Amino acid sequence: MRKPRLVADLNLTYDMTTVTKTVKFDAAHVLTNHQGLCKNLHGHTYRVDVSVAQDDGAGGDMVIDFKDLKRIAEEVVSSRFDHAFIFNTDSPGEREIAAVVERNGMRVAPIPFRSTAENLSRLFFDDLKPRIPGLVAVKVWETADSCAEYRAG
Ligand SMILES: [Zn+2]
Repeated sequence: MRKPRLVADLNLTYDMTTVTKTVKFDAAHVLTNHQGLCKNLHGHTYRVDVSVAQDDGAGGDMVIDFKDLKRIAEEVVSSRFDHAFIFNTDSPGEREIAAVVERNGMRVAPIPFRSTAENLSRLFFDDLKPRIPGLVAVKVWETADSCAEYRAG
């Protein structure tokens, strides 16, 4: 019997099946030094699409159980960021806001870079990868028509 292989581990392109689970969380953030409206403190209902792939020759009829994928995505992403102020630890202004938020008993989620959708998609991918070997992409939606995707190379 052929041993199942995961596409992300092979770096090949051929027929494959991809499954995607979506989780959501609400969070506040600010983009310091941004020239547009996002320089103001604001929030999003973030939607995160987590995609896992397996080559069609693997023989299985399920890439990963949706229930397992949801549980892992919620543990790694939602539980850490839901209803938190996501802030860049390199930004003095964002650290100042976070200190006030924390002092008042509210949640903060420190990250070492700006909280753009692009950076969040890479962060979530890196955090999910050890738990999901066939992970191929993480898409972060800030709004219904704006998203960033980090994909396995
Ligand atoms: Zn925003």
